[in-house]
Amino acid sequence: MKRSPLRRNLPPKRPAYHAEWLVGRDYCWRCKWREGMPSEVWPRRMETHELVRGPFRVKAFHLSYCWIRTCNECHAKHFASMPLARQLAYKRLNDREHYDRRAVNLLRRRSPGAITEVEVLVEVRKLKLAGYVPEGGAE
Ligand SMILES: [Zn+2]
Repeated sequence: MKRSPLRRNLPPKRPAYHAEWLVGRDYCWRCKWREGMPSEVWPRRMETHELVRGPFRVKAFHLSYCWIRTCNECHAKHFASMPLARQLAYKRLNDREHYDRRAVNLLRRRSPGAITEVEVLVEVRKLKLAGYVPEGGAE
């Protein structure tokens, strides 16, 4: 069966364990907004962002170490153009269980240490100095 041109542009489907991963991750890691809260932005909804771009993004749809929970506002205005080390800092602070910097480097066909832990920790420190506290509290 031929696929329509529109259908071809749809993002790939998430694996079943994405739904499990969402449990307890119902808030935006950047602004802390969650469904049901008032919003000055409309429409506002929660989304999953992949922290790698371009040809790697299709694979990232299936890899929990690439997932970031965000509202559509922060997705478009911040995460979409955020340096990778900072995105990894958000991942480390909010989803340590699935944080895997080396795997992200390898997925991008770079060396396992292309982005170092120190680079991520510098971003963690910058976030904390700016007053950022992850939902579960400080590390
Ligand atoms: Zn947000």
